[in-house]
Amino acid sequence: MENKINNTAENATKNMASNLVLAEGQNCCPKCQSDWDGGSILETFIKQREEGVKVWQGKSDEQIEADMKESYSPPYRWGKNIGIEIQGGYDGVGYWQCPDCKATFNRFTGAETILPLR
Ligand SMILES: [Zn+2]
Repeated sequence: MENKINNTAENATKNMASNLVLAEGQNCCPKCQSDWDGGSILETFIKQREEGVKVWQGKSDEQIEADMKESYSPPYRWGKNIGIEIQGGYDGVGYWQCPDCKATFNRFTGAETILPLR
């Protein structure tokens, strides 16, 4: 069974859940303090080269780093938080959700928000 998020950004901003706020650049959950840092992207790709992943074969660490920087943004680390995009709302990630406690925060205001599921 599939839960589909179907809500407008305008409606979502009315659904403030608490006074918790996700600060700009904060990399842990304001609610449960779970660490959202998923580790170094470059280290992941170098490890993949050692494991035989085809795309990295024959490339130096520096070449892998240059390739990575074309597709990812600083600080070049994986995030465990889940990006949510609302159909009909902002064209891109509008909310961040904690993978552990499922608390959801507005990307722009940082406010904890309840997104109705249908
Ligand atoms: Zn959490």
